[in-house]
Amino acid sequence: MTKQVLMLAGDGIGPEIVAEAQKVLNLLNERMSLGLVFDHALVGGAAIDATGGPLPEETMAKARGADAILLGAVGGPKWDALEMAIRPEKGLLGLRSGLELFGNLRPAILYPQLADASSLKPEIVAGLDILIVRELTGGIYFGQPRGVRTLENGERQGFNTYVYSESEIRRIGHVAFEAARKRGGKLCSIDKANVLEVTVLWREIMNDLAKEYPDVQLSHMYVDNAAMQLVKAPKQFDVLVTGNMFGDILSDEAAMLTGSIGMLPSASLNAEGKGMYEPCHGSAPDIAGQGIANPLATILSAAMMLRYSLQMEAPAQKIEQAVSVVLDQGFRTADIYSEGMKKVGTAEMGEAVVAALNELI
Ligand code: NAD
Repeated sequence: MTKQVLMLAGDGIGPEIVAEAQKVLNLLNERMSLGLVFDHALVGGAAIDATGGPLPEETMAKARGADAILLGAVGGPKWDALEMAIRPEKGLLGLRSGLELFGNLRPAILYPQLADASSLKPEIVAGLDILIVRELTGGIYFGQPRGVRTLENGERQGFNTYVYSESEIRRIGHVAFEAARKRGGKLCSIDKANVLEVTVLWREIMNDLAKEYPDVQLSHMYVDNAAMQLVKAPKQFDVLVTGNMFGDILSDEAAMLTGSIGMLPSASLNAEGKGMYEPCHGSAPDIAGQGIANPLATILSAAMMLRYSLQMEAPAQKIEQAVSVVLDQGFRTADIYSEGMKKVGTAEMGEAVVAALNELI
């Protein structure tokens, strides 16, 4: 049986890092007979240049037909002056909402080999393994009404709407409780229930859901405290669940605990387990085209894709093992480089993973 995988390289370093993930997937496909069939399409700035819009209908149709999607990154200064509705990021938001990818899983794992890469003291972060579950298709990023209006006194006013329905909170809650159940059994729900009514409801629903998961220990924390605790004592957390905007910010903070955003994969899932997989970082226009970007987050995103959407656990684990092997061997891209290690570029890092994988399968 074949599985359709849509590759969306996107902009900036996107094509460079997706090319390395493709090499890894090609090897597994061939050697482990995975039956993956790849297709490619345009999204973001590349799509704007070719078609005038960030999410062409052809791309959306291919995305709907695929079993899983691997995305590089979108955006860059070239398109920053465009009006909001046709900016590259709209392509990403359109895919997330069009495919109802409401559950964003963002692991923050500190590989023991990279403990020195974190800006925090090794004893605070060594062995860190947390999972942030972020609601991705609701909240203030999508709430209506939104815009910039002119008041009667002539002053302009920007406005957005922070809204969550009970069903939206419940479905992301289930994803988080299930994840906690499979991990350390601890779930911390992040809100701002002392100020925002929408998160008072969020907290109420999480408490309600907890009755269905007696094996999971639920706690609550205000988002400002969570931001502090993540740098003070991050290992107190197992799984965190939060809304779209808080999750956006906290997951980047958690990413930096690990030393490099270039190491972190992510998954965005819908109710059927179909997903879009992408590195947590953006298109890094400052280093695009130089061949120095770290492809490991994208390669690890491919592993998550095999695990969560394609039910191919064994090859997923092989990829993760291969990444650990290349770190043991001392290969480092510039973002994770430290004295005495072997500094390599994007393609060399991808080839090192392929070589390690070749030994493992
Ligand atoms: P960014 O993540 O692209 O870059 C932040 C810093 O991290 C930069 O110094 C960059 O060089 C570095 N970096 C990122 N990925 C790296 C990698 N794989 N290897 C080595 N270094 C890496 O964030 P930004 O600069 O805020 O955004 C740049 C563009 O990306 C913007 O247009 C933004 O809108 C877009 N963006 C896209 C996504 C996405 O596609 N999911 C996410 C965030 C930002």
